[in-house]
Amino acid sequence: MLGSIEAGGTKFVCAISDFNLNIIDHTTIDTDEPNSTLKKVFDFFSNHTIKSLGLGCFGPIDINIQSPNYGCITSTPKLAWRNFNILKALSDNISVPIALNTDVNVAAYAEYHKGAAINTNNCIYLTIGTGIGGGIIINKKIIDSRHHPELGHIFIQKREDDHYIGNCPYHKHCLEGLAAGPAIEKRWNMKPIAIPDTHNAWELEAYYLAQAIVNYTLTLSPDIIILGGGIMHKSFLLPMIKSQVLSILNGYFPIDNIEQYIVLPKLGDKAGIIGGLLLAKELLQA
Ligand code: ZN
Repeated sequence: MLGSIEAGGTKFVCAISDFNLNIIDHTTIDTDEPNSTLKKVFDFFSNHTIKSLGLGCFGPIDINIQSPNYGCITSTPKLAWRNFNILKALSDNISVPIALNTDVNVAAYAEYHKGAAINTNNCIYLTIGTGIGGGIIINKKIIDSRHHPELGHIFIQKREDDHYIGNCPYHKHCLEGLAAGPAIEKRWNMKPIAIPDTHNAWELEAYYLAQAIVNYTLTLSPDIIILGGGIMHKSFLLPMIKSQVLSILNGYFPIDNIEQYIVLPKLGDKAGIIGGLLLAKELLQA
């Protein structure tokens, strides 16, 4: 049996699968302070015998295996979790090998193996919801960088008519500060779900996301970019973003087929859990 944990800021999803990644049992736990949340995680896994565990965790988190703080959640606004070593807490209670990466890198890996990025070598998975985060697959592997990428905190140009100051507690007007769900809500005084499809909020949202995609494209030239998260449930956004990407690139960079270049996820809410299972399986094959 393999175990997987998708540790998110609002919920933890835990799952068990067989070696072929068929999920046998799973549970969802509301994220509270670390000890009470993890107690429920341990209760779930105590009912199963697993050989290894894959963990995709919200960040920022230290995923450098050489670091003395490996597994430690760092500068999160969720104060109870700041400087909490989730990997150590899990290792102390679940005595199997544990593979750790960020929730978005793990989701990207799942989409690469089982979802929208099959048959590619390089992909980016971006989630746009209460925050913005992204995972990167380079040459068929999760990017092996000193610190995991922070694709939501890149800087983009504000449109001249946008007077909203920005919502990121660290940078104000980074991508997350301008285009994540809470920024949309504060700018327009409406929850994103309640904003009409024809509202010009979405033109601005597409413009900001397109700028980010152009930056990722020019920097990494991936084979495919996958856009997930709650904001992308607004299905009319995707064609608006594609159109803006082509407009900003202005013919400079070759994109053969924009329809296949920017896509929605195929695994939906399961990407994180499936990615964790993939990492758990690889641990046993290493
Ligand atoms: Zn930021």
